[in-house]
Amino acid sequence: MSSRPLPSTSDEAMALTWPDFQEQYADLAEQELTQENLGDWLARWSNLHSLLDEVEQKLYVVTTLNTADKAAQDRLMEFMKTIHEPRQVEEEKLRQKLITSGLSTPTMAVAIRQMKANSDLFREENLPLQTSLVEMGNEYDGLCGARSIVWDGEEITLEKATQILEEGDRDRREKAWRLKHERILEDRAPFNALWTKMFDTRREIARNAGKDSYMDYIWQSYHRFDYSPDDCATFRNAILTEVVPAAREVYEERRRSMELSSLRPWDLDVDLFGSKPLSPFDGEAELNGKSQAIFDEMDPALGDYYRDMVDNGRMDLFSRKNKANGGYCMTYSHIRKPFIFMNAVGTHDNLQTLLHEAGHAFHAYEAAKLDYVFEANVGSEFCEVASMGMEMLSHPYFTKFYSESDAARARIQHLEKQLLFWPYMAVIDGFQSWAYQNPEEGRNPAACDAEWGRLWDEYMPGIDYSGLDDIKVTGWHRKLHIFHIPFYYVEYGLAQVGALQVWMNSKKDPAGALAAYRRGLSLGSTVGLPQLFEAAGGKFSFDAGTLRELVGAIMGELSDQRAKI
Ligand SMILES: [Zn+2]
Repeated sequence: MSSRPLPSTSDEAMALTWPDFQEQYADLAEQELTQENLGDWLARWSNLHSLLDEVEQKLYVVTTLNTADKAAQDRLMEFMKTIHEPRQVEEEKLRQKLITSGLSTPTMAVAIRQMKANSDLFREENLPLQTSLVEMGNEYDGLCGARSIVWDGEEITLEKATQILEEGDRDRREKAWRLKHERILEDRAPFNALWTKMFDTRREIARNAGKDSYMDYIWQSYHRFDYSPDDCATFRNAILTEVVPAAREVYEERRRSMELSSLRPWDLDVDLFGSKPLSPFDGEAELNGKSQAIFDEMDPALGDYYRDMVDNGRMDLFSRKNKANGGYCMTYSHIRKPFIFMNAVGTHDNLQTLLHEAGHAFHAYEAAKLDYVFEANVGSEFCEVASMGMEMLSHPYFTKFYSESDAARARIQHLEKQLLFWPYMAVIDGFQSWAYQNPEEGRNPAACDAEWGRLWDEYMPGIDYSGLDDIKVTGWHRKLHIFHIPFYYVEYGLAQVGALQVWMNSKKDPAGALAAYRRGLSLGSTVGLPQLFEAAGGKFSFDAGTLRELVGAIMGELSDQRAKI
């Protein structure tokens, strides 16, 4: 072995250039691989792999903390071009080496299946195309981050404007909703242009990889081994027959209790049971203190994980201008520790987001003891069970933030959101399936508007969009995933099945359900999706019968919680 030792942290590794890493790859590629040295070889590769991942993750995180920081974007792009791209070629050599050796370990079987899928898709000519998609993603963030409206004489972010939609005064809500959406519509042309450019690039990537469609490409690249496009269609149909009627009931109940002739899009976030929106926290100290109390009580190990994040600054929680929108939990691959990013302004939604991201973070902690980073490459279908499951498991603890009756209000809000989410997810999944199966139409923004509008009307009945056609049909512009993480969304719907199963278990046996949840998380990707769901106490299925049972449980819980107010 001729290469110098690697630095032990990603901060030090930032100073290295490609030749430093390349010699490490070369060493690993040259080493003879036997069953005896397989463990050591995997450990070395895992170390190098995770170190480089973490450098990239840190460079990415900085771009989201300030979307106006041009230098940070340049550093990320520089890394993508000079290190990320050539690295892929070297990674491919090591994957090939491992695959052709025929060697494995019991816990690496899923990882090796993933590697085979990646190897099969790998084409060197796609590397610059993938980098250009990251650049286009930055353009999307730039458009989103620059938006604001003037409200009560003050410039506010669109996230802040969303908070106004919870207020009781209908005229103010309508005004805020229109200002926000008209501001987004101002960027209609750039969003459309960006979409077509991204769409064509994705098709080119699929063609280069020998795939007939981008859908085939994505299925393999997302490691969707345990379900097919037909299963997703079955799921969407089950949503149409089982969930849409219940969702319609929820909207109708809302319309009745607000005494409206029709329910408009600015009427959806008002709490039916209180004149003031739920306001769970005022500032970071309160949010962290009370969240800490929840996790301490739920399970001391989870409490320790949360404390570790607070003590080590692994969070950036509050909204400000030029911060990228949305929320995420990034698991730094090398230290195997999470970082939570979100845009809190003080709403109940923000609390849900924190609980959600905390679930992801706990997943990182639980899986940190696995030997190799490759064993922690879990599909979102189960990652989101960790996060959504934590949201559900937190229900009994809402009283840390609220009175009994406000806690019931919060649970109702959350349960209704869960129910209403499936139809919305079906619109997004249906839209993307349509777009990538019919690419000539899919690349055309006008056809996209028409298809989005059609799906919206089918899955989202009960909300009156009359006179708001342009805003309705451009809903796909407002969905970050469609631009950033193509075709990714059904995962959330599948995961919600698992999360609700965890919740149903916890109502019967709270300790047992939590133990199963943690057991599922700790397995990383050492087993497949059906086994992960099973370990967590659920079942990986998405037929009408499964949804009927979950919808029944939600509707039952909704009436129990309504009785507490
Ligand atoms: Zn998530």
